[in-house]
Amino acid sequence: MAEAIRHHAALVRCSCCGEWVTLDEPALAFRWPEPFRRLDADARSAPDTFCDTSFCAIGGEQFYMRGLLPLPVHGLQERYSIGAWVRLERADWQLARRMWDERGNDRLPELDGELANHVPHLFEVSSEGLAVRVRLHDEMRPTFRLIGTGHPLEDEQRHGISAHRALAFSRLPPQR
Ligand SMILES: [Zn+2]
Repeated sequence: MAEAIRHHAALVRCSCCGEWVTLDEPALAFRWPEPFRRLDADARSAPDTFCDTSFCAIGGEQFYMRGLLPLPVHGLQERYSIGAWVRLERADWQLARRMWDERGNDRLPELDGELANHVPHLFEVSSEGLAVRVRLHDEMRPTFRLIGTGHPLEDEQRHGISAHRALAFSRLPPQR
């Protein structure tokens, strides 16, 4: 599967202040789903617990998949895609794993998931647990669409963000 988080440089006139902004920093990307990050080393090596670059499971009971949360950037054709994790039901997670490198993902109905990452500093309310619809693709990582959450991140996904806002996401401290 093609790696969709790439390094870009684009010159964009910011929709909030009119300045020209160079977007040349990698997009915000989370290495783990938040519940896995919170585990200590022992818990991470427990049975049926793992986290690779695309899938994660905790104790054979919680199931996560990595994908992209795209945000349109005003004045830019390409979207700003946050690399993030969603929690899925077991059966959907198994389906997604089975289909990962198969053809026909584009035709699957959307799956229901919950965002499993907390975007620090930029919101008063955590983004962890927000409802998303998950779409699998043939040529890129799964994409997440926030739906009915009332969270400002959903407004940003629907209406787009300024170039400076994209930079603010990129400059958040890396997840530890
Ligand atoms: Zn600006």
